Amino acid sequence: MNSDVKILIIEDEGAIRNLIATALQTSGYMYEVASNGTSALLLLSTHQYDMVLVDLGLPDIDGVEIIKKFRSFSTTPVIVISARSNDEDKINALDEGADDYLTKPFNVEELLARVRSTLRRTHYLDNKSNEEEHIFTNGLLKIDYVSQSVFVAGEEIHLMPIEYSLLCLLAKNVGKVLTHQYILDKVWVNSIESDLSSLRVYLTSLRKKIEKKSHEKYIQTHIGVGYKMVRVVSAEEKQKNE
Ligand code: CA
Repeated sequence: MNSDVKILIIEDEGAIRNLIATALQTSGYMYEVASNGTSALLLLSTHQYDMVLVDLGLPDIDGVEIIKKFRSFSTTPVIVISARSNDEDKINALDEGADDYLTKPFNVEELLARVRSTLRRTHYLDNKSNEEEHIFTNGLLKIDYVSQSVFVAGEEIHLMPIEYSLLCLLAKNVGKVLTHQYILDKVWVNSIESDLSSLRVYLTSLRKKIEKKSHEKYIQTHIGVGYKMVRVVSAEEKQKNE
C-alpha cells in the first residue's frame, strides 16, 4: 500500500536528503527530492504528493515561507525536519500550517513513525463517512459528538465543558501538534496570556480522566509549544493487523 504514497523531500543537505530518501524507499514509499525552495515550490504547484517533508533552513527561501505558500492551495500534510530547535521556530511553522515537527539530529525510526501516523490521520479524514463523523474513536477512547458524551473502555467519563471542548479540538486534529495559542484562541474566547496556566490545569485534569482507565497515552506534551493527540493502536487492532 505504501507504494501508492508519494512524498516530496525538501532538503538542501545531500547527506540528510539521502538518509531520508533511503528510509522512505526501504519502507516502500515513493519519493521525489528538491534541494532548494524554488524547485520545491515548482514541484508542489505542478505535482500531487501525499506528504511533504521540509527543512526550514534552505539556501533561497525559508521553509516556513514554503509552508505558507503551499497552504494557500493545499491541505496535504507537511512535516518539518529542522535543526532549529527553539520553541518560537516550532510554533511559527505549526501556526503556518505544518502538521508535525522533528528536530535534527533525528532518529530514522522516529521519522518513519511520524510519517505513518500522519498518513493514518489523513487516510482517516478522507474516508470518514457521515455517520462516523458523529463518533470519534481512538484506542479505547470514544467521543459521541451528537450526545456530547465521552467513553473510555465503554464507560462514560464526565468532563467539564472546557475539558470536553479541549478534547474535541485535539481529537479533530489527531496527529497534529496544536500550539498553546491556537488552543487558547479556539477554546478560551478572548484569551489572555495568563490563560496558559489554566490551559495546563484543564489539560492535566482531562488527561487524568481519559488516561486513568485505559492506561493509554492519548495526549502528548510538546514542552513550550503545545499538545498533540496521538492515534493509539489498541492491542485488538494490533492483532488484527498481524
Ligand atoms: Ca538546511
